[in-house]
Parts: sequence; structure tokens; C-alpha cells
Amino acid sequence: MNQSFLPFALPEIGEEEIAEVVSALRSGWVTTGPKTKQFEADFAEFLGGGVEAIAVNSATAGLHLGLEALGIEPGDEVITTTHTFTATAEIIRYLGADPVFVDVDAKTLCIDVAAVAAAITPRTKAIIPVHFGGRAADMDALLAVARKHGLRVMEDAAHALPTTCSGKLVGTLDSDVTVFSFYANKTITTGEGGMLVTRNPEVAKRARVMRLHGINRDAFDRFTAKAPSWHYEVVAPGFKYNMTDIAASMGIHQLRKANAFQQKRAQIAALYDAAFADLPIICPPQSAKGDVHSWHLYVIQLDDSVTVGRDQFIERLYAQGIGCSVHYIPLHLQPYWRDTYKLTPDMFPVSQRIYERTLSLPIYTLMTETVVARVVAAVKEALR
Ligand SMILES: *Cc1c(COP(=O)(O)O)cnc(C)c1O
Repeated sequence: MNQSFLPFALPEIGEEEIAEVVSALRSGWVTTGPKTKQFEADFAEFLGGGVEAIAVNSATAGLHLGLEALGIEPGDEVITTTHTFTATAEIIRYLGADPVFVDVDAKTLCIDVAAVAAAITPRTKAIIPVHFGGRAADMDALLAVARKHGLRVMEDAAHALPTTCSGKLVGTLDSDVTVFSFYANKTITTGEGGMLVTRNPEVAKRARVMRLHGINRDAFDRFTAKAPSWHYEVVAPGFKYNMTDIAASMGIHQLRKANAFQQKRAQIAALYDAAFADLPIICPPQSAKGDVHSWHLYVIQLDDSVTVGRDQFIERLYAQGIGCSVHYIPLHLQPYWRDTYKLTPDMFPVSQRIYERTLSLPIYTLMTETVVARVVAAVKEALR
């Protein structure tokens, strides 16, 4: 095999993004300013439903701001999935609260709503579902549980642009806060960046203030408002989480391509589905009927009849020049979470099994049909 190595993920950056970034650089305004304001307005319009969009420098920052705005404090419990990236849970610890990890539903690979209901205690304040791989969690059931127990819901939508749930775009559902990621390998990218979305004006106001040092007006307003003012007030010990105009310049154009990117990813997923139909491979969960799957990830599961182990399978793909990954090493296996909360694999049988038998194949807009065919051929070879 002397074909070049196929990376697991690559962003698609066009001339439009490059020109907009250059225009930000030439404008003299490189931190949060007009491009960020435009990106926020465009993002709110893209989602619709009367949401406010607040741009931040990562989804992790947005998740932290969201949970802070919901008033989570030391001693509180927040229920989330073990089958996620550590960012989902670490922000709970930032606030001194405790995550309560639950297993995922094998049908969706998203948080198991029955397990959520069983994990509620008098200390429970909020739930953080993850739309794993871009397939929506069962939000109707989850929101019903939350309402019944008076709990707040913040969606980790790092994978979910654009994803729909019961026909509505994630970001416009009846949760309190939704946070998207624009990290380099996500469905749209600003290099680093994120967007906090909410319909709750109190949450929006708090997140805006805490995004920039707890100052009650942002830098752009201070220096460019009609009545320029040197005066500002610090109302809380805030954070430094604002998005730069350089990043927002990329975001403006990436967002315009979000639907086209989704279609491209869905085509690749359909090619994989068809190619693997007769193989001992379990394809990733489809979205519910009529809903959009963002196809951020394409996670395959090796059937029990496959004798080669998952790790060896990945090695065989690498040997053929195919990059792949594992989503995720569940949090119950990570030393910090495992030791702090005394977690064991038998507490999370579905997640544990998925971890042991799954891998993620490349799925991104720059992949041609020829490249997809190359991955399929490598998978067949690795099964042999
Ligand atoms: C990528 C990711 C995050 C963190 O996003 P950043 O923008 O890198 O902070 C959070 N949760 C999940 C599930 C992710 O995949």
C-alpha cells in the first residue's frame, strides 16, 4: 500500500472563510466585534425559534457558562452520560457540583432516559444529554422526566449541527441551554469556538456578562457605542470566554455551508451503510424517522462473530493508511472520574460494551466516493 495516509478528520475551509479572516485582520478589530455579532445573529437566524446565540471560545466554555447561569452550586448533582468526552462532565466540577454518570441506550448510544429517572436524588439539579455522533437523544422523554422533577436541562450539542429531534432543530427544543462546538473536527469549525444558545433571557444575560470577566458591557460596546464610555462595572468574578472576530469570520461562512456539509456527510454514511449491510458489522443508529442526523461520527460495532479484537482491527486499518478513532473511552474508565466517583464497568454495561467493540471511521466533506470506497475495502480486508 503506497497510497497516502487518510486522516480521521479534516476541515473544509474555502476561499470565503480565508477572505473574511483577512478582512478581519485588515480591519484592525481582531477580538470580539462586528464579525462576532454577525455570526451570533446568523446563528440565531439559522436555528430560528427566537433563540439568542452567544459566541464563546469553545464549547467547553459555553457548557461552563450555561451551567453557571442555571445556578449550579457545590453540593448539587448533575446527571450525565458516561459515554462522552470529558468536557461534558468537567464543567460540573468547575462549579464544585458532582456529576452522576448513567449508561447509554443501545438503540441511540445517547443517555438512557430510564437510567436518568432512576438516578434522581433530592440533590439533583440538572441533566446534560449528549447528541452522540449527531443523532439526537430521546429529548421528548428526557424533557418529560426533567419537567416532572423540576430539573434544568442543558444539551451538549457539540456533535449536533444540524440535527433535528421530532422535527425541530437541536438548539430550539424546550431545554434551558444548548451548546455547540466549532472545534477543528466538528461539523463546522472556527478552529476553536462554540455557541451557547438559549431562549431564557436571564440565562442569556448572565452568560454574556460571565463570558467577559463579569463586566456588564462587552468591549465592542464600550469602545464603539454612540456615546463612547470608559466606564464599566464588574458585577461578578467572570471568565475570559469571548470569541475573536478572526474565529467568527470563519464561522460566518462555515454556517452558510452547514446544510450542504450535512448532506455530504449523510451521503457518505449511506455509502457505508450499503457497503456494510452484508458484513458482520453493526452500523450506527439512524435518526428517528424524518429527523436529520448531522453524521458528525460514523461509529461501527464489530459483531460478536468477528474474532479479531477492536484494537487489532484499528491497527489493521492504520496499516492500510486509514485513520480512525474510538468514541469514547467512557468516563467511568478514566482515572480521575473512576477514582473520584468509585465507578466500575459493571455499572455501565452498554457503554462498556460499545467501548470494547466500536471504532469511528473517517466521515467528512472532503472525502470523495473513491476515498469512501478505499475505506470500505480496508474494512473488508481487516475483517479477513
Ligand atoms: C468536542 C466536544 C466538546 C468540547 O468542545 P470544545 O469546543 O473543544 O470545547 C464537548 N462535548 C463533546 C461531546 C464533544 O465532542
